[in-house]
Amino acid sequence: MSLTLPSDLFIDGRYTAPSGRSRTSLVNPATAEVFTEVIAADLQDVETAFAGARKAWESGWRDLSPGKRTEILFAISRKLREHVEELAQMERLQIGKPIGDARDEAGLGARVFEYYAGAITKFGGQTLPVSRGGLDFTLRQPLGVVAAIVPWNFPFPIACWKVAPALAAGNCVILKPASISPLTALKLAEIATEAGLPPGVLQVLPGPGGRIGDALVTHPGIRKVSFTGSTDVGRRIMELASRDLKRVSLELGGKSPNIVFADADWMRAADSSPMSVFANTGQDCCARSRVFVEKSIFEPFVERFVKATRALKVGDPIEDSTQLGPLVTQAHRDTVEDYLADARKRGSVFACGGGRSHPRGWYLEPTVLLNVRHDERCWREEIFGPVVAITPFEDEASMLREVNDSPYGLSGSVWTQSLPKALRVARAVESGVLSINSHSSVHVEAPFGGFKQSGIGRDLGMAALDGYTELKNIYVGE
Ligand code: NAD
Repeated sequence: MSLTLPSDLFIDGRYTAPSGRSRTSLVNPATAEVFTEVIAADLQDVETAFAGARKAWESGWRDLSPGKRTEILFAISRKLREHVEELAQMERLQIGKPIGDARDEAGLGARVFEYYAGAITKFGGQTLPVSRGGLDFTLRQPLGVVAAIVPWNFPFPIACWKVAPALAAGNCVILKPASISPLTALKLAEIATEAGLPPGVLQVLPGPGGRIGDALVTHPGIRKVSFTGSTDVGRRIMELASRDLKRVSLELGGKSPNIVFADADWMRAADSSPMSVFANTGQDCCARSRVFVEKSIFEPFVERFVKATRALKVGDPIEDSTQLGPLVTQAHRDTVEDYLADARKRGSVFACGGGRSHPRGWYLEPTVLLNVRHDERCWREEIFGPVVAITPFEDEASMLREVNDSPYGLSGSVWTQSLPKALRVARAVESGVLSINSHSSVHVEAPFGGFKQSGIGRDLGMAALDGYTELKNIYVGE
């Protein structure tokens, strides 16, 4: 298929290329070659986008009937489905995502719009029997113009997780993709506009986080920042947003556990667990990068885990059969290799991997580490690459203390055939989402987000709509 790549900002319902703006070169991680350039927004563009968004909100979007908003979001969902292949190819090029995963994620974005199109007419306030009589009821009102700042690891689906509920609730959105992955965000705005979204309701500003992100976070007219990215940047956003008490929701990093008891179908756990950490080449906030295995099955479990890891197909993201592509940039691979060097220095055992798998592109072999001490960087920090550490445990209580001894609390899995044990452990793990005998973390219909330093607020499900509205109470006297 022929692919037309967007290269300009998306403001007021069309692509626009203000003169004199600098450009960002996009590099295909699989080949290390520049394949296109995209304009980087500057501070003036933030003002223009905000003015357009505020006008669109006041002059129609705020007051559009729920039925009409439902129609538009359904139309966006249908149009996104027509463009799945194009969106998937863009994602493959800009971040090296295997094409099969990229197609699934484009389809997921369409489902997110479909879900929130349906949710619009099912989300509202309550009537309350206040003690003095009269009529008391609550309304859910949109915030106004909100900013969505998204990362490079799942650029398209995470943009949809934020844009769809924000629009459903009646807000206008300024979307800032990561500077290295702007293409699918721009295409989303183009498709949404073709589907009937009025100009100004969704603006897209690619550009550097430090300048454009900060400008959005400190903008006095922007009512909320919905952010997904690293914990360090999330912390900074919260600090900046506190100046005018701007609403924030933060989906941040993770170091999630995968707990396997001896009474589990541990062979199934061992076969499926490599992809619970290595999918997206480990660049996944939900990666189960700390595996706890009950001592009596530790050795056969590790043997099977390593065998399944060796069988993974690392290769060119363009191939349908590829399961793991390259890391996103050379700099990011350097960071992951620093972790591996640290593990080597400290005497960890490399059960497999540790090297570069391809001479060209930013590839790294999926790596299984054993004997990693629990005070080491590889155990404690989010590596965000294809690296896992497996450790044995003897008793449930001390294992749970180790599991929760982390600043993060995003996701995790527990494997056991005992329902009471599964429920006990699921309640005890400090994380926002947890799967029993499964590695599935993300469901469009269910809330997604973290405990502790993995974040504040929830994406997806009806819970996301709370975060894009203010709750107003109205009392009518008798
Ligand atoms: P990042 O924090 O470097 O960047 C995320 C976004 O923030 C980008 O758009 C970037 O341009 C922008 N940004 C950077 N500096 C900024 C600033 N000072 N002010 C405002 N915006 C700024 O993260 P990344 O490297 O793109 O993504 C990887 C991180 O994202 C990992 O830590 C991962 O765990 C996390 N993540 C979390 C979830 C989740 O749902 N919890 C999902 C995906 C990724």
